[in-house]
Order: sequence, then structure tokens, then C-alpha cells
Amino acid sequence: MSEAPTLTDTDAAASTSLREFEARARAFLEEHVPRRDTVVVTDTMSAEVVANEQELQKKIYDAGFAAITQPKEHGGQGLGEAESMAWGALTAGYAVPRMLIAISHGMCGPIINLLGTPEQKAKYLPDLWRANTLFAQIFSEPGAGSDVAGLQTRAEKVDGGWLMTGQKVWTSNAQYCDYGVIVARTNPDVPKHQGITMFIINLRDPAVTIRPLRVATGEYPFNEIFIDSLFIPDSDRIGEVDKGWDAAVAMLRFERISIGTSSTKSTGPLSFEKLADVAREAGLAQDPAARAALVEAHVLEQGTDLLALRMREEVEAGIDLGPRGSIAKLAGASANFRVNEIISDIAGLSLVAWDGPGAAYPPLTKAFTGAPSSWTAGGTIEIQLGIVGERVLGLEKDPSVDRGVPFRDIRRSA
Ligand SMILES: Cc1cc2nc3c(=O)[nH]c(=O)nc-3n(C[C@H](O)[C@H](O)[C@H](O)COP(=O)(O)OP(=O)(O)OC[C@H]3O[C@@H](n4cnc5c(N)ncnc54)[C@H](O)[C@@H]3O)c2cc1C
Repeated sequence: MSEAPTLTDTDAAASTSLREFEARARAFLEEHVPRRDTVVVTDTMSAEVVANEQELQKKIYDAGFAAITQPKEHGGQGLGEAESMAWGALTAGYAVPRMLIAISHGMCGPIINLLGTPEQKAKYLPDLWRANTLFAQIFSEPGAGSDVAGLQTRAEKVDGGWLMTGQKVWTSNAQYCDYGVIVARTNPDVPKHQGITMFIINLRDPAVTIRPLRVATGEYPFNEIFIDSLFIPDSDRIGEVDKGWDAAVAMLRFERISIGTSSTKSTGPLSFEKLADVAREAGLAQDPAARAALVEAHVLEQGTDLLALRMREEVEAGIDLGPRGSIAKLAGASANFRVNEIISDIAGLSLVAWDGPGAAYPPLTKAFTGAPSSWTAGGTIEIQLGIVGERVLGLEKDPSVDRGVPFRDIRRSA
């Protein structure tokens, strides 16, 4: 007869330290962070929101609850996945900064940690994790969004570094950022994926002009960035020269995993609970079509939340999701698309009409008008379908007219 497994001393110590961590986290959250249902939680950054959230994020870091699994020598807490998961679960009901650090902590920090030199990690990571500095992701260009490998911003080798010139677009919250992780063409004589290099740039440099872009909601979530002969020291190059495509793909995977594994759907304005309230207010509680649509919204929410949970557990267990990260992004975006149709059927015109100038912009309207961005951000639905088809399911590759052609010989409009 086999003996029942016993708790080893190491297991017992780990579980005690996890319980201590959770107790500390609970006490910290109660004392320093408002509960989500007691404040208006905004996804929109403004100078005031950024300043307030930076202060809060610093407190979170100083108390030992940011960069939980990152190595201690570069400013992380050096703790395990169990603590990271516990913090994620405990903060679900609290207004901790999310948008503020989504790109810095979700993409830029991880890529510097993965590919950066020891000097880059020492120079950038401690301030990044503490939110003393904010980082932007600077990939998309006017002619290179889905086809980001077709980018035309160029960096030419000069004494001691590189001289960069070009234009970028859709850079989220760059007007509030200090640095950006950018990709630029360093060799036009090879096929487009082979002549790209990744750099860190200083967004406060006078050679960089950041112009915010206004969207339908009246907010400025994105920017155009014009770069005019910006000098970048070679010490700010991430990874090898001309190997920036691999670095960009790795960073986009961090983005899709971070989008796909975040489970805030059931707390957002388009959650089932909120939709059910809207249906009641519209007098549709007994309406069979509305009720069927609400059930559908609930099932979609459960499905995407469970998929996100499963993928998060795989990531926490050290399993590389690779291109499967695109499945979670696709599922979330497709569900969002359908839920947006459902809410427009239920709420009708009240979704886009509210009290006149000066009246608060209703969160539901904002979520409705902002939802289409979720099927574009981090790569469009069509691009994710291509990735899942080719790289997860092994289907035939899309035909390509520029495979193997040197970048300078590819026909383009400008
Ligand atoms: C909320 C949000 C935040 C963003 N933040 C950032 C950021 O911080 N940094 C950054 O660099 N970028 C950012 N972007 C830009 C984003 O990465 C691009 O919008 C996206 O990659 C699509 O590129 P595009 O807009 O140029 O569209 P296009 O590439 O021009 O696509 C237009 C349409 O054609 C389709 N299409 C294109 N190619 C194919 C193909 N091969 N097969 C089938 N269909 C295709 C697309 O799916 C889409 O429907 C953000 C976008 C959004 C919406």
C-alpha cells in the first residue's frame, strides 16, 4: 500500500509564506487602494490620472507588490508565480493602476528583461517597475500596422550609435511616457523581416515630436510620433542588429498574452451584470429576445474568462503559450464584438445620447464606442486568424508577394 503524500517542510514553509504574503496584500489594499465599486474607474489617461496613479503604483512597488516575479537584482521582488497569482486575484475588486502600467509592465519591461544587456536592465528596469518612468510601444506606422515588418522608419549607423528618422502612429499614451521601445529598419538590402532592429528611445529628446490624436469619444488615447535625426547610443539597442523582428514578435506575444489573460470582463461596463441592469431599466426584463441575448452574453463572458484563467495558469506554470496567445486575444475580441451588438439592441439610442455639454460621459457609452478598438489593438482579428491558422493549426500559409524580396525592391506607395 502506498503511503499518503505528506507535506514536506519546504511545502509547509512555502504555504506559510504565501499566507503571510496574502495577509500583507489584503491589509495594504484595504489601507491604500479604493475598492472598484466606490470610485469611477477610468481607462482614460490624463495628466492628473497619470500623476495620481504613478503615486499609487510607487506605493504598491515599495510595499513589495509590483514586478512580483522579476529578479531582485533588477528591481523585482524575486517571488514566485503563486504570489503573483494571489496578487492578481486579490486586486480584482480594487482600483489598482491597470492602463498606466499595461504597456510598461506587460510588454516593455519583459522584453528588456528577456533581451536587454545587464547595463540596460540596471539602468531602466528599477524605475520602470516602480513607475518612476513610463514606457511606450512604438511599432505601428501609417503604412505598417498589420504588416509591421513593412516599416520605413530607418536607423543608420553612425559613430557610437544610430541616427533615426521616421514617423510612427497609434502609440498609446506616448504623451505621458518617458521612453519607448521602437523598431526601425537598419538594412533595406535584405527581405523585410531580416533588416529590422529594436531600440530604446528617449521620448523627451528634442528630435522627437509627439502629437496626440483625438478619437470619437473626445479623448486622446493615441499619438503620432515624428522622429527627426534622433541620435541613439548603441548601448540602447535591444538585441542583435537586424534581428529586431524576432524581438518584436516576442514583445507582441507578451502583449497578446497580457490582453488575453486579463480577466476583468465580469467587472467592466459591458459585463453580464451591467447589461442585465440596462435591460431592466429599459423595461425589457420579461422580453424573451432580450433574455436570450443576456444568456448569450453571460456564456461568452464565462467562456472567455475561463480561457483567460487557463492560459494564465499555463503562463504561471512556466509553459510558453507561443502563438496560442492569439487564441485568447481572438476569443476576447470576438466575444466583445457580439456583446456590443447585444447592448446596442437592448439600450438602443440611449447608448449614444446623454445629457448635454458638461454632463458626465456614461461609462456604458464609452465602453460601446471604444469596443471596436479591442478587435484591432494588439493585431486585428484577421491577423490573429492567420496566426492561429498557420502557426497553431498548421494550415497552408497565406500567399505572399514579397517573400524573399529585398526591402528596397518591394513596391510601396511612399
Ligand atoms: C486601442 C489601440 C491601441 C494601440 N496601441 C498601439 C501602440 O501602443 N503602439 C503601436 O505601435 N500600435 C498601436 N496600435 C496600432 C495597432 O497595432 C494597429 O492598428 C493594428 O496592427 C492594425 O494596423 P492598421 O491600423 O494599420 O490597419 P491595417 O493593417 O491597414 O488593416 C486594415 C484592415 O485590413 C485587414 N488586413 C490587413 N492585412 C491583412 C491580411 N494579411 N489578411 C487579412 N486581412 C488583413 C486588417 O485586419 C484590417 O481589418 C493600437 C491600436 C489600437 C486600436
